Parts: sequence; C-alpha cells; structure tokens
Amino acid sequence: MCGIIGMFSNKNIAKDLYYGLYSIQHRGQESCGLAVADDNENKIKYIREMGLVGDVFKEKQIDYLNGSKGIGHVRYSTAGGSIIENCQPFVGTLRKRNLAVAHNGNLVNAQVLKDMLEEDGYMFQTNSDTEVILYILARYYKGDIVESLKLTMDYIKGAYALVILCDDALVAARDPHGFRPLIMGKRGDEYIFASENCAIDILGGEVIRDVEPGEIIVVKDGSVESFNYSQNYKPVKKSCIFEHVYFARNDATIDGVNAYDFRIRCGEKLAENDEVDIDLVVPVPDSGWPGALGYANAAGMRVSEALVKNRYVGRTFIKPTQEEREIGVKIKLNPLKRLIKDKSIVLVDDSIVRGTTSRQLVKSLREAGAREIHLRITSPPVAYSCFYGIDTPNRANLIASNHTVEEMRDYIGCDTLKFIDINDMLDVAGSHTNFCKACFDGDYAVKIHDIEG
Ligand code: AMP
Repeated sequence: MCGIIGMFSNKNIAKDLYYGLYSIQHRGQESCGLAVADDNENKIKYIREMGLVGDVFKEKQIDYLNGSKGIGHVRYSTAGGSIIENCQPFVGTLRKRNLAVAHNGNLVNAQVLKDMLEEDGYMFQTNSDTEVILYILARYYKGDIVESLKLTMDYIKGAYALVILCDDALVAARDPHGFRPLIMGKRGDEYIFASENCAIDILGGEVIRDVEPGEIIVVKDGSVESFNYSQNYKPVKKSCIFEHVYFARNDATIDGVNAYDFRIRCGEKLAENDEVDIDLVVPVPDSGWPGALGYANAAGMRVSEALVKNRYVGRTFIKPTQEEREIGVKIKLNPLKRLIKDKSIVLVDDSIVRGTTSRQLVKSLREAGAREIHLRITSPPVAYSCFYGIDTPNRANLIASNHTVEEMRDYIGCDTLKFIDINDMLDVAGSHTNFCKACFDGDYAVKIHDIEG
C-alpha cells in the first residue's frame, strides 16, 4: 500500500502538498517524498527520504520545494525493499523533458518488463516496479503525455493508481480495474488528486469524483481533459474491498462506498443471529472500532473500551519479524483489567492475517481474567496473497490458507471464532461484481505473471 497526491495550481502549493501528504500518512510509513515543477527553471525539484512526513519535511524543505504543481508519495513497500533508493516520486529527464511519477499499487509483470528494458540497455537503479513505469513512459514521451501513457498502459499489468508530473501538466490515471483508489477534487480553480478524500477535505477542497478505472485525466493551464486508456478495452471495475475492511481511513469514500458505514454495517451483520451470551463488546483499537460499534448497536449493547492503545506505536503488522510483531502487539494494546475480570467478551477486529494480533490479544485478555472470549471478524478469512498492492505476498504465512476456522480458533485460543460471510460483506458493499476480493476467494482479475502464488 502507498498513498499518492497531486496538485495543480497557479500559486505555490508546497505547503498544501505537505499537509495533504500528511493526511494520508496511514497508507505508508516507511518513506515519503514530494516533487514539484520549478516555475522558473526547467526542472523538477524533489525530496525523498525514509521516515514519516512530519519528520522529513520541515520549513527548510518546504521552502525549497516551492512551485505551483507537484506530486507526493508515502510508501509502504509491497514490491521492492524498504530502502532509500525505492522512495518515490521517481524523477527523470529525457530529451530535455522532465517527468516525475508516484505510484500506488503493484505491477504483476514488472520482471518481464524489466528484462525487456534491460535488453534495450536500460540500467535499473532500484528494484521497485515504479521505475519500470517511469522508463516505459519516458521511452514513449515525446511531448504528448496522454499518448505515451496509453502506450505505457498497454504494457503494464496489475494495480496502479498514478500521479504524473511533466513540464506542462499534471496527470492522474487508474488501471483498467481500478484496484487502487484515486479521488479527484477541486479548490477554486486548483485541482487535487489523492488516494483518499481526506487530503482534499483538509485542504479545503471539494471532492469531484473518483478517477474511473482505465481513465486518464490531464490538467494543464486552463484545461482539464479526460481520456479512456483504450477504445478497444472495456474497463472492468475491481475496486479493492480491503481498502474498506482495513486500509482506508474511516472518512474515506471510495467508489461510492464509505469505509466507516461499511465497517459499521459489517459489525451489525456479524451480530445478526450470533447467539453468544456476553457482558462486553470490545473493539481492537483502532481498526476494530466501527465493527464493534455496529455489533454493539445490533446487540443492543454499548462498546467497552477495554483494550487501551499506546498511540505512539505504528501498525504492528508491518514489523519485519514474528517476534517483533508479537512484542509490538503487547506494547500497543493493554487490557483494562478492572473491566474485563470474569466477563464474557465479544472481541471485534477487522481482519486476521497471520493470526499474531488476535492470538496475543486473547492471551492478554485471559491473563486479565476474561471468562470467555468470542472473537468476531468483520471480514472473511484472508486466505490468498494480494498481488495488487497489499503486503500479503506469501500465502504460507496467511493462517487461513492452511487452517480451518476451528484450527484457527484453537491456535488463537478464543472460545468461539466467527468471520463475516463473504456474500454478506459484498451485500454491505452494494455489489458482488465491482470489488476485488481475491484475498478472500482467490479470484484474481489480472493473471499473475511473475509472482509465485
Ligand atoms: P495479524 O496479526 O497478522 O493477523 O494481522 C491482523 C491485524 O493487522 C489486524 O488487527 C488488522 O487490523 C491489521 N492488518 C490487516 N491487514 C494488514 C496489512 N496488510 N497491513 C497492516 N496491517 C494489517
């Protein structure tokens, strides 16, 4: 996962880009970067560093980045290691033309394309699939960015939401399935594109709409134009359902679905016909909150904040080793013993991936004196790897890929375990066809070329 932002204005937008990027920090905490077109010199200035937006960009950096159009990126690596070389935006100059690209997603044929480009003499400086996009784009870019992007999109397969900065334009594009989100907004006569609407909201802009699957939008001085990637290819919407399950912020509305409403309604669904005798509904903060609210609403109860969260710990899932993940969960969440002792609890979380978080939490709740623990998950079991931009590449590590629900319950150590039914989840989302749900059912809309399943 990553977050991207782009802005087109006629005044200095460095600070706005910074604030916008800050608001999508949850989409990637490994590295960040901003690139702006210098209005006076013919070049793109950029700063990319490992670390959080607030740590990397200070007054000095923002002053340096003054310019009236630019793009930004926060990174959480799915393809390519977590190293400085892979930080985005990627910036290059070819035939005196400047290009910068920020990408959210994951190409499934990056290696094939890399091999092809290397044959032509390209030397790759990173192991990120975004560099492949930049090189193909640059290869065809002779002044018409739309034509070169269309040709590029013929080559690249998989998931991509892109913002591209060139000398005279800002471009936004989404792959023909629209796996990853990209929202278009406006503030006066300025245009903003971002992975989530919060970036547009906080900048005082107005959301216009989602960039459509297979759509290319070009903003130039005085004009905004939309193009179809291809006349011959009909886009098939496969918006990522996991954005609504976990990734996007509660205030995100992506492809017509609001993440908060979705999460609440999934919690309500779980409570329907759930016949456990409970004293407390406890969310796993923060991702389990709306689901727990929904569950409690439907059960006629209120939510008990019986797990206390340390606000200074990041997303534990992302930590590299299993041991670190386990201690990470402990540091992050501590039970409020007074509330829990001798109680029968419904514990609500959004997803089980490896099982580390729930196993550790159940252990802590038992030590805190819980009498019964009934774990309720507002998504179906994650049993398949995602190749479209979510960091679950190795199927063997997904507990649901090789355990039954009863085996998972046993491993996690809870009294009962229930997941929302996939059809109930899709009913809540409002469509059984418009969403990619491959992580739950293995139905991949784009063939996986170079990655082992
Ligand atoms: P696990 O401990 O591996 O089962 O991870 C599940 C927990 O991580 C849940 O509490 C989710 O909120 C969160 N989570 C799920 N998927 C991801 C992901 N791809 N990246 C980061 N966190 C995740």
